Amino acid sequence: MSFQLNDEQKMIKQTIAKFLEKEIAPLVEEYERAEKPITKEIVQKLVPFGFLGGLLPEEAGGHGLDYTTYFTMIEELSRIWPSLRATVGLSNSVLTHIYEYGTEEQKAKYLGPLLRGEKFGFFALTEPNVGSDASSVETRATFQGDKWIINGTKIFITNGIDGEIGIVIAQTDKSLGNKGIASIIVDRSQSSYQSKQIEKMGTVCCPFAELIFENCEVPRENILGNVGEGLKQGLKFLNSARAMVAYIATGIAQACVDSSIKYVKERNQFGKPIGSFQLIQEKISEMLTLTNAMRLLGQQASSLLDEGKQAKVECSMAKYFATDRVLKVAEEALQIHGGYGYTKEFPVERYYRDIRYFTIAEGTNEMQKLIIGREVLGISAFV
Ligand SMILES: Cc1cc2nc3c(=O)[nH]c(=O)nc-3n(C[C@H](O)[C@H](O)[C@H](O)COP(=O)(O)OP(=O)(O)OC[C@H]3O[C@@H](n4cnc5c(N)ncnc54)[C@H](O)[C@@H]3O)c2cc1C
Repeated sequence: MSFQLNDEQKMIKQTIAKFLEKEIAPLVEEYERAEKPITKEIVQKLVPFGFLGGLLPEEAGGHGLDYTTYFTMIEELSRIWPSLRATVGLSNSVLTHIYEYGTEEQKAKYLGPLLRGEKFGFFALTEPNVGSDASSVETRATFQGDKWIINGTKIFITNGIDGEIGIVIAQTDKSLGNKGIASIIVDRSQSSYQSKQIEKMGTVCCPFAELIFENCEVPRENILGNVGEGLKQGLKFLNSARAMVAYIATGIAQACVDSSIKYVKERNQFGKPIGSFQLIQEKISEMLTLTNAMRLLGQQASSLLDEGKQAKVECSMAKYFATDRVLKVAEEALQIHGGYGYTKEFPVERYYRDIRYFTIAEGTNEMQKLIIGREVLGISAFV
C-alpha cells in the first residue's frame, strides 16, 4: 500500500485543480449567495475529465479510473465547490447502479444522458420513518397489469427537484423483509410524482426534496436487476461511497487550511500578522495535521478497494474520522477569521455549513462505529 499518489495521479490532480480554479471557482460565490441551483451547463464542463462515470470501463463510456484517482478528483472538486460535487455525485451513483445491474436496454436508454450530464440522477431510499434502518422501507411497489405502481414518500432526496432519472427503493413483499425490496428506475418523462424542495443548511446550490408517489405508474421493464435485491444492490456500493466521503471531507478541510493560511499572513493585530502569534500557529498546525490524517485514512481505504478488497472497517473508519474531524478544522478556520469568519465575505462559514451533513449521510457516524464494532467483535449491536 502506498501513501503517495503516483506520478499519473499527481498529474491528474494538478490538471483538475488548474481547470476548476480557472473555470468553476469564479462561479461559486454568485451561485451560493443567490442559492441558484447548479445547471446542466456547469456539470457538462466536468464531463471531459470523467467526473461522471470515471470508474466505469472505457467501453461503457467511462474513464476506467481506479478508486484512488477518481476520489482524488472528487477531493479537488469538493475543495472548490461542494454543491457541485453533490449534484455530480448523485448522478454518478445512479449511472453506476444502472451500469452494474441494468439490462442492455436500460443501459442504452439511460447511461448516455447521465454520462453526458444532459440529465441528473437521484437515488431515493430515505423516508420520513426510515433512515438508518433501511430494511424497514415502507414505500410500496405493486405489480398490476404490466406496470409497477409505486405509493409512498421519500425524503431528503438530493437532485430530487431537477433529477430526471431516479432509482427508487421500494418494498414489493413485506413478508420477505430485506429480500422483499426492489430498485426501480423512475423516469420523469414517463412517470408522474410530486417533488417539493426542502430548505437546508448547506450545499444550497444542490437542492434536496421530498418526493411523493401516489399511484405512480412505472413500466415493468424499469425494474433494476432482480426483484428482492434492491437493498443488496445499494449495500454493494456503500463501502466505496464511504471512502469517497473521506476524500470529500479532506477537500473541504484543505480549503479551510488554505483560506486560513492566507488570512493569518494578511490580517494584522498588535502591529503584526496574526500568524506570528503562537496560539494561531497551534491552530494552523492542528488543522493541517488533521487534514493529512483524513487524507491518509481515505487513501488507505481506497488503496484496499483498488486491490479488490472489501475494506469495510477501513472505509467506515475513514468516513467517520474525516467527517468528524473536518468539523474541528472548519470551526478553527472560522475562529481564525474572527468576526469576518461569521460573515458571507469569506468562504469559511460556507465550508462549515457544506460539510456538516456528512456525519449524517452515507450512514451516520454512530452507525459507522457500530459497523466497526460488529466487524471487530463479531457481535452486531443493530440487527
Ligand atoms: C444533505 C443530505 C442529503 C441526503 N441525500 C439523500 C439522498 O440523495 N437519498 C437518500 O435516500 N437519502 C438522503 N439523505 C438522507 C440520509 O441518508 C439520512 O438522513 C441518514 O440515513 C440518516 O437517517 P435519518 O435522518 O432518518 O436519521 P435516523 O436514522 O432517524 O437517526 C437519528 C439519530 O439516531 C442515531 N441512531 C439510529 N439508529 C441507531 C442505532 N442503532 N444505534 C445508535 N444510534 C442510532 C443516528 O446515528 C442519528 O444520530 C440525505 C441527508 C442529508 C442530510
